[in-house]
Amino acid sequence: MAVEARTKYETVIGIEVHAQLRTDSKMFCGCPTAPPDGGTDEPNTRVCPICLGLPGTLPVINRRAVELVMLTGLALNCHVETDAVRFERKNYFYPDLPKGYQISQYALPLTSNGRLVVNVPSEGAEVTIGITRAHLEEDTARMQHAGRGYSVVDFNRAGVPLMEIVTEPDLRSPAQARAYGETLRELLRAIGASNADMEAGSMRIEGNVSVRPAGSTTFGTKVEVKNLNSFRSLERAMAYEVERHVAALEVGEALTQETRGWDEEAGRTIVQRSKEEANDYRYFPEPDLPPLRPSDAWVAELRDRLPELPAQRRTRYTDELGLSPYDAGVLTADVALADYFDAVVAAGVTPKAAANWISGELSRLLNQHAAEGLRADAVALRPDGLAELIGEVEAGRVSSINAKAVLATAFESGESPRAIIEREGLGAVSDAGAIGAEIEAVLAEFPSQVAEYRDGKQQLFGFLVGQVMKRTAGRADAKLVNEELRRRLD
Ligand SMILES: [Zn+2]
Repeated sequence: MAVEARTKYETVIGIEVHAQLRTDSKMFCGCPTAPPDGGTDEPNTRVCPICLGLPGTLPVINRRAVELVMLTGLALNCHVETDAVRFERKNYFYPDLPKGYQISQYALPLTSNGRLVVNVPSEGAEVTIGITRAHLEEDTARMQHAGRGYSVVDFNRAGVPLMEIVTEPDLRSPAQARAYGETLRELLRAIGASNADMEAGSMRIEGNVSVRPAGSTTFGTKVEVKNLNSFRSLERAMAYEVERHVAALEVGEALTQETRGWDEEAGRTIVQRSKEEANDYRYFPEPDLPPLRPSDAWVAELRDRLPELPAQRRTRYTDELGLSPYDAGVLTADVALADYFDAVVAAGVTPKAAANWISGELSRLLNQHAAEGLRADAVALRPDGLAELIGEVEAGRVSSINAKAVLATAFESGESPRAIIEREGLGAVSDAGAIGAEIEAVLAEFPSQVAEYRDGKQQLFGFLVGQVMKRTAGRADAKLVNEELRRRLD
């Protein structure tokens, strides 16, 4: 598409997130939200008359779920409603909804009118996204197509506490949509509200996208995109829709307000439902539940309990610890990584050295295990072990090249880096005599390079250092090699 066609239009995106709350029991009954201790989940085993929607049962509100939504609202700078928040019934028929309605919040959400500041690295900018609401509801059961024209349903998920977070249409690009999703995920994890795992389904995203002529204040035709299984899918799906809308507007083709699904493999969206088929949910107040009236004291207590949020952490890293905005961004994009960093610094390593090792080598090793979902908190090498290794490097007892190899081993085994250095004989050679002998050997082996260096070809110095390192299998104390070599050459 021509560049001028793109710049003629403005993209408008709003995001809806559903996040499963981290509670032990379901929203309105005592059934567990997960199988006991990593056990396998047999379908329809974590159910009772309440979450199966049997007649005559009465729901009871899960206090912890209410707290987690309020905590999220406070973290998102939302207003927390303390004046009679009613649960409402959202009515529709579907086999995954045993009661024929979902208990949700509609007219008055528990929290509303907040904002989230999002750092968008690819645009080199920070954007502030308005949060319309964060409310409480219950999850549906899980349907599975079993082939041959029939489906099966598992009610283990029915009634699991769910939070819906809706933004204002404030996002202006697919990259901003992705950055918002990632920032929100880290926030939900930092406050312990949700595992927010897209692949496991504990965080689900829908994007509402439209395009309008640049400068216009009215919205274009909106399309809702579902079936997004990763933040990458979200970004790709939004980009696909923007292209499709602009192409249609350019030739004067009408767009339809509809719901579309993202096909990851084909890299395109497909119509699921047009607006004419949209449901009328006939909301009305849930007669079996009392209105929620959180006390001011309860809200204040939760506000006190809020941990350091990723954005505050980023500021602390740059302003107090002197990290670059880039390093601070890498570390705070992942709560587990930032916690790891804090622990390494607490063990006595300077912030700059800790940041270099963690955003460099440690992140590289974590990326190699990204498919298994490995995060810093599950790495065998604990922060005090990395601190020990960095200490050895800074004391000149191991070269940084060999330290990387030690880290790779310790990363898998959790062994003490010092023990690995000793066992593998990777300790630095810092004996001036031994290093001097290796230098003499190199000078004898490369006389023409030595002559050229002395004639002013400065870059040959690095070559000669490299040769000395090679002869000592990377074990020579690099600082000492530099000093001794320079003393002999100059
Ligand atoms: Zn139940």
